[in-house]
Amino acid sequence: MIDFTFTEEQEMFRKAAREFAETQVAPFVPEMEQTGKVPAGLVKALGDAEMMALTIPEAYGGLELGYTARLIALEEISRISVATAMMLQVFALGIEPIVKFGTEAQKQKFLPGLATGERLATAAVTEATGGSDPTGIRTAYRKDGDDFIVNGRKCFITNSHIADTLTILAKSEEDPKAFCAFLVEKDMPGFKATHEEHKVGMRGCNTGELAFENLRIPKENLLGVEGKGLRVTMAAIGDVGRGGMVGCALGLQAACLEASIQFANERILYGKPISRLQTIQNKIAEMKIDLEAGRLLGYRAAAIQDKGQASSNEFAVAKYYTTEASQKAAKMAVDIHGGYGCMEEYAVSRYIRDAAVVGPSAGTSDIMKVIIARWALS
Ligand SMILES: Cc1cc2nc3c(=O)[nH]c(=O)nc-3n(C[C@H](O)[C@H](O)[C@H](O)COP(=O)(O)OP(=O)(O)OC[C@H]3O[C@@H](n4cnc5c(N)ncnc54)[C@H](O)[C@@H]3O)c2cc1C
Repeated sequence: MIDFTFTEEQEMFRKAAREFAETQVAPFVPEMEQTGKVPAGLVKALGDAEMMALTIPEAYGGLELGYTARLIALEEISRISVATAMMLQVFALGIEPIVKFGTEAQKQKFLPGLATGERLATAAVTEATGGSDPTGIRTAYRKDGDDFIVNGRKCFITNSHIADTLTILAKSEEDPKAFCAFLVEKDMPGFKATHEEHKVGMRGCNTGELAFENLRIPKENLLGVEGKGLRVTMAAIGDVGRGGMVGCALGLQAACLEASIQFANERILYGKPISRLQTIQNKIAEMKIDLEAGRLLGYRAAAIQDKGQASSNEFAVAKYYTTEASQKAAKMAVDIHGGYGCMEEYAVSRYIRDAAVVGPSAGTSDIMKVIIARWALS
């Protein structure tokens, strides 16, 4: 039997996550839009609500609630602030490699502080030479006794300037097929967060560049097997990264639909609300269909992930579908608002800018199709 219903606990968790987003996240949105900066109070609120602890095992101070709960939290937070959901999703992306590949000592050292939000995480793979093609990165390591020396730069890294613990990917100076994933701490000499981006959307979520200059990393900070680091970062991006973007996209879809329904019911033309016009109804129906379908795809993938089974292909389908649908929904929501949709007073003008940013992270739609075709043809 397939049961498509959420459990009572999951429904209660969604209620709590919605209340958290509406009362604790929403007040920060105007400031984030205006300054483009991460409010310290918002990070503290996320930590106090144990949002960073969701996927961390209880043994290391986490809640161990699993990936369905994580998707619920991200959807509800993104419905209020896509930027906040994005920063939260990448905290988990930085945490996951430690949970899945970390040694006992690494787990004990890093996870408790990451669970409380006392320390913040990210994963840094992308470089100017390698976004869709991570093997094209130029950040390189060499051995020096028991240590590794890393030189290079990363770009487009979420939480670049606020993360304390970073999972980074580097390539061997000698063997272009050998990669290592390392745990870097922000106070290590040779590590620097440099340029901060100004994105069109998801404002208030920090994105930027990192520089490593003769960064000395002790062997205790090697994640997984030496030379096999690509697997460490790609495993995290495949499930947690893609899954996180599904959460961001679903929340954005829901926000677009809700704003459209409200506006369409309030806007009077020809003596009646525009929600009575069939063209408007068609747009609302399309948004509703896409949201229902996106939720089925996303929560199916999360349920598979919760069973401990491989879910990255299912998440590739869900990520493709929901991010594309969120962009379509934002365009329709702005259209339904007529001229008001272009005005900053209306949230849909933020949604369409946020929608422009949900695509590339954790792999573009083109890359999702490459993965999905490989799956279908295998
Ligand atoms: C807001 C934001 C946050 C991000 N956060 C992080 C982060 O925290 N950590 C991190 O490591 N990275 C992060 N990224 C980087 C992101 O993963 C990359 O932007 C993405 O993988 C695409 O890489 P690129 O930008 O270099 O584009 P490119 O790889 O240069 O792609 C350019 C175009 O070519 C297409 N293309 C490339 N290869 C193929 C192919 N094989 N077949 C068909 N088309 C193809 C792409 O779809 C795209 O249209 C973030 C990006 C953004 C925008």
